[in-house]
This record gives sequence, C-alpha cells and structure tokens, in this order.
Amino acid sequence: MRTIIGDIIKNEDKEIELCGWVHARRDHGKLVFIDLRDRSGFVQVVFGPEVANASELRLEYVVKIQGVVKKRPASMVNDKIPTGAYEIGATGLEILNRVEEIPLPVDTDGYDINEETRLKYRYFDLRRERMKNNLIARHNIVRLIRNFLSERDFIEVETPNLSKSTPEGARDYLVPSRVQKGTFYALPQSPQQYKQLLMVGGLEKYFQIARCFRDEDTRGDRQPEFTQLDLEMSFVEQRDVMALNEELLIEIVTTLYPEKKIQEIPFPRITYKEAMEKYGTDRPDVRNDKEDKNLLAFCWVIDFPFFEKTDEGRWTFTHNPFSAPKSEFMADLMEEKNVQDILTTQYDVAMNGLEIAGGSIRNHQPEALKSVFHIMGYQDEEIIGKFGHMLKALGSGAPPHGGIAWGLDRFVSLLQNEPNIREVIAFPKTGDGRDLMMAAPSEVDKKQLDELGIEIKKQK
Ligand code: ASP
Repeated sequence: MRTIIGDIIKNEDKEIELCGWVHARRDHGKLVFIDLRDRSGFVQVVFGPEVANASELRLEYVVKIQGVVKKRPASMVNDKIPTGAYEIGATGLEILNRVEEIPLPVDTDGYDINEETRLKYRYFDLRRERMKNNLIARHNIVRLIRNFLSERDFIEVETPNLSKSTPEGARDYLVPSRVQKGTFYALPQSPQQYKQLLMVGGLEKYFQIARCFRDEDTRGDRQPEFTQLDLEMSFVEQRDVMALNEELLIEIVTTLYPEKKIQEIPFPRITYKEAMEKYGTDRPDVRNDKEDKNLLAFCWVIDFPFFEKTDEGRWTFTHNPFSAPKSEFMADLMEEKNVQDILTTQYDVAMNGLEIAGGSIRNHQPEALKSVFHIMGYQDEEIIGKFGHMLKALGSGAPPHGGIAWGLDRFVSLLQNEPNIREVIAFPKTGDGRDLMMAAPSEVDKKQLDELGIEIKKQK
C-alpha cells in the first residue's frame, strides 16, 4: 500500500512505498537525489548505484518508490518543510510515466509565467503548490458553508441549467433544442426564479453552490460561467437574511483565516445615498488601513433606488426585478408613481471595495411583481408570456421570502490574496471567453448543425 508523503514522519526506519512526481533532481553520478512530490508534500529520496534506473529520472516523471524512512543528521534538517527531518533511502524504483515536454515550470508561484501558457496547460499549472492550495482553500470554504447551512436546516437543491431566459441585466447563453427545432434554452444567469419557486414549493430554506452563466463583453475580472453561493429563505425580513449571512462570513474568516482581522463587527450599514456621497461608489472601501493585506472591511449597502433610467429613457431595475420595495414605497409601486423615489429592499455586501454578495426580499404577491414590469414598459401580454409562470406561482400561496447570492470566486480570491478570480478556478476561461486548453468554443460538424436545423451565416 502506498504511503502519502505527509505520513512519513510516522514511519521512521520503516520500509514504505511512495508515489508521486519528480519535483527536483540532482545527479551526482553514484548518487541520485530527487525531491519527490505528492499532494501532501515533498521529501528527499536518495538512490544509490543499486537502483540503476534512477539515472533515467527527469523532472515531473511519475514514479513509485520503495525505500526506508531515515532521520537526517541534525545539520542536514530542512526546517522549511514538515518532512525535512527525514529522507528516503530508496531500494526500488518503478517509472510509471514519463514527460514528453515540460511546457512551464511548476516549482515557482507562477505569477511571472505568461497566463495563456498557464491556461493552455492548466493540468500542468495545477501541480503548482499555490494553485493546489487555492483549490483546497476553496473546498474548505465550501465545506464550511455546507455544514453551517445544513446545521441551520437549509437543504441544498440543484436547479436546472437548461432553462429559460432570466432578465438579470446580462445577455443569455442560448442552447438550441434538437427535439423542438427552432427553439432555445437559456443557461441561467442565476437560479433566481427557481429558488423563489422552491419557496412557493414549501422548502423554506434553500441553498446551492450554483453555476451561473452570463454572456457579457470582457469587463475586468469576470468569467462567462462563475459560481454563486445562492440561498433563499421563507418568512424572513431583511434583517434575518443579513444576520445569517453576516454570521456565516464571520465564521469563515475566523475559522479558516485566523490571521485576518475583520475591521468592524457588526458590519456597518451604509445607505446607497451615503455611499455615493462619501465614497463615490456603491461598493465602498471602508478600510482604515489599505496597506494591511489581512484587514477585511465588510459593510452592508442598503436603500438602493429600485429603478434607474436606461439610455433610451425607459425605467429599468437597478438590481433585481423580483425584489420587493421597502414597505413604505409599496403603495407607490402599486400605483406606478414617484418611480424615481422608490427604494428597494436590496442589500449588498462590500468587502475592501468589492461587491461580494447581494440579495433582497422579494415581491411575493403577483400584483406587485406585475407593477415592476409595467413600470419597465412591458405590456400585460408580454408579462404573461415571459413571467406568467412566476405570477401564477406567486398567486398559488407563495410565502414571503428573500435571499442573497455571493460571488464565490471573488470572495475566495480575496481571502487567498489572489489578484484575480482565475487563480481560484480550476479551469477558467480567458477574458474573451476562450478555453485555451480544450480549444473551446469551436466549430461543429455540419451534421450536428443540420440536426439542430441551424445554418451559420457566412462571416463577412
Ligand atoms: N439572483 C441575484 C443575483 O444573481 C441574487 C439574489 O437576489 O439572490 O445577483
């Protein structure tokens, strides 16, 4: 049975078998030294002349090694790594696989390597200690979230990816239907409608680590598909959703990042108006000390205007069309008047100047939702066509409900002190939406298009 490198400290003087990659190699003729790497760590292995094939070893070869765990003389201890007091005296070596070409080094932090190369050979890039640690950190955060919410009676429910267009402000990715020719699914921009429908379905407390898809032009640190922690609760008010999320954010930081300091608890609440006046942005950076990379300054931003004018002079929602207005503005919403003054129940979390979460209490009565769409200039017929299912559901005994979604990639990248979200996503796309490793998107066979009844227009 293979022993993992992290466990060699429990196996002094024993003969064990290790598997992994050749991380470093020094050939001194009679003796060959390698640093062997597996997910759990590194260890030095020494091959004497009796292990003849050791001279064939090259960087990143995959090997199985038999050997004895020996304590190194005190003067040779490498105290930079946990296994540094030991080395393996090899008695046998099997080369499990060789490497044709090393496309990029993996023994550095990798920041200085061309990112296109890193993305093209991502399976190689992921061997890097930093990338491995980012994925493990992400896993630990998600695990904590799942445990935290499960202990509070939330259930995780999967919602469809083949869905219908949701009006969340971005362009949809469309998927053509073969069976219903000429029609399209849309990939969800978020599970917004499904999670509300789960509340109508009586589930009361839902969450999901959900993939969302938005076909946006390249804008800063975004990905065409990204991950949200999405949640929704029934019979709650704004303060309930905010309190739960604040507790969860604090728990993640104090448990998994004890070296970090949260500037202020409870998180300060800032109205949209104050934020714009004082900071000129609705995601204010309220840090007292911007030099300290371990300082996390969370704040809530509330009291956003519900509507804003489009370039064409029509009203559109600022955040989410399914939000309820603050109760004192419900009458105006229903009468579709003083539109510019209506404030929404939206609450956003900003952290060090970046928006990491946002949500709201929803309109659980169909008439209120209808008013939102009327204000946006939709005719009744169009509202029924696009949102008939939501209106029907809300009119079928929908409980009052509200929720939130976090941009999980961004949150993890900030906690890991990474400069962008691609560093915490296993297989991210480039800024212009390409997967360089798989070479996607790509052309498809004519036969596939014929089956879908699709013809590609000649590119001019
Ligand atoms: N669905 C919203 C979003 O993706 C979040 C929410 O209101 O729960 O931004």
